[in-house]
Amino acid sequence: MGVFRAMIARTFSAATSRSLRVCVVGSGPAGFYTAEKMLKAHEEAEVDIIDRLPTPFGLVRSGVAPDHPETKIVINQFSRVAHNERCSFFGNVSLGSSVSLSELRQIYHVVVLAYGAESDRVLGIPGEDLSGVHSAREFVWWYNGHPDLSQLAPDLKNTDTAIVLGQGNVALDVARILLRPPAELATTDIASHALAALKESSIRKVYLVGRRGPVQAACTAKELREILAIKDLYVNIKQDDLQITSADEEEMKNSRIRRRVYDLLSKASSSSQTHPSSGQPELHFTFFRKPDKFLESSDKSGHVAGVKFEKTTLKASAGSGNQIAAGTGQYEDLKCGLVLKSIGYKSIPVDGLPFDHSKGVVPNIRGRVVSSSDVGQPVDGLYVCGWLKRGPTGIIATNLYDAEETVTSISEDIKKKDLTSEFASGREGLLQLLENRKIKVVTFNDWEKIDSEEKRLGSLMGKPREKLTNWKDLLAK
Ligand SMILES: Cc1cc2nc3c(=O)[nH]c(=O)nc-3n(C[C@H](O)[C@H](O)[C@H](O)COP(=O)(O)OP(=O)(O)OC[C@H]3O[C@@H](n4cnc5c(N)ncnc54)[C@H](O)[C@@H]3O)c2cc1C
Repeated sequence: MGVFRAMIARTFSAATSRSLRVCVVGSGPAGFYTAEKMLKAHEEAEVDIIDRLPTPFGLVRSGVAPDHPETKIVINQFSRVAHNERCSFFGNVSLGSSVSLSELRQIYHVVVLAYGAESDRVLGIPGEDLSGVHSAREFVWWYNGHPDLSQLAPDLKNTDTAIVLGQGNVALDVARILLRPPAELATTDIASHALAALKESSIRKVYLVGRRGPVQAACTAKELREILAIKDLYVNIKQDDLQITSADEEEMKNSRIRRRVYDLLSKASSSSQTHPSSGQPELHFTFFRKPDKFLESSDKSGHVAGVKFEKTTLKASAGSGNQIAAGTGQYEDLKCGLVLKSIGYKSIPVDGLPFDHSKGVVPNIRGRVVSSSDVGQPVDGLYVCGWLKRGPTGIIATNLYDAEETVTSISEDIKKKDLTSEFASGREGLLQLLENRKIKVVTFNDWEKIDSEEKRLGSLMGKPREKLTNWKDLLAK
């Protein structure tokens, strides 16, 4: 029996004609938490999760660092949701190309968009398209084996210096992956092409550069402690940069995280050696620098050779209580052969979806998508959750509270209007449409075959899994 027929049989055994047909777009934390809460709150709900990838779990698989296995345990909870008989996962189904938003809205009573943020903010400065300049997202997808970027092949061999722009947790992740001894990464689920490149890497020096000072560094203490603990690492933080003003004191009074981060940086600065020894890995925290342009190598090969920075100073920002960086007109060049921009992810709009381009999110009120033309009017049956709803911030658990809010809005709306009185073809309609378009659907059962194969390959190499990293292999399962 084909996927379509098997699915339809299951649909009719699990669902009744009065089912509330729900489609969740995106199988990251926001999608799975939404599905879980919908299934719990609505016994008549049948929830289909679609994802453009053949693999589920979003950034838990392709974002979270390979040396953070404990963070990925949440996958067990998401798998239990997928096994609920009223839930289905359909991978290799992309909103926008496999199926349009207006089609989904016709097929389902409720559509919840949870497709994350798969693009990057840009600096808009000269040289940003030089080779050797990548976004942190690209680099992370590469080392995590995302099938869209397994071919990235960043050049780690022709330079000893990388500059990471940004000082948030993602910046710390990419810096740590560059600096950690590869032998320690060999027992993680890092993609083997990345492990091989890191073993051959000549990068010994990483600059983590921020526009503002140590009090404003956007990372958290746990991640900072982890990078500072890398074996045999030389850490450089200029004493001058640690001078704080009364405005800094005020910021730290309002945020325990900032206080802790500042204390850790101060401690690291005072306890570090004065000079690195030869071949020692080096981590430089560089504060008060704003990228002005990327410098091309002198042979004009189109490769990055450094970054020109403008020095900054802090000034008060009206209303926010936080300080912002202002240029001083003084410049400094820093040489490097690799730049990773960790300045933020950005969501991508799809046709027919209201979108706030300045914030990079879908305009919504407590998860109800509101129309851009008819200001503030909720769009019937359309909801949003996760990074697409609130922007690319927060940890996995933040999406749980976010899903709670969105599902509460859905429940309130259903109380006001019985959506199931209108016909919606739901799962059957979607699968028929995908079959007509000859789109190969990857079910959760298919994913479990991929999962077993990855674990089998991993066990041969002393790793928890060896990821399949190209579309062909993933779709062959
Ligand atoms: C590098 C990195 C490291 C992180 N590390 C941690 C950590 O250690 N601990 C922690 O708690 N949090 C961490 N986070 C944060 C956490 O990953 C996010 O909070 C969370 O993944 C956001 O969930 P989401 O569901 O909104 O988006 P995502 O997880 O991005 O899921 C979106 C899903 O939508 C799918 N999709 C995209 N476009 C389409 C489309 N057109 N059609 C269908 N499907 C589509 C994607 O394939 C993806 O599966 C990290 C984030 C990053 C970027």
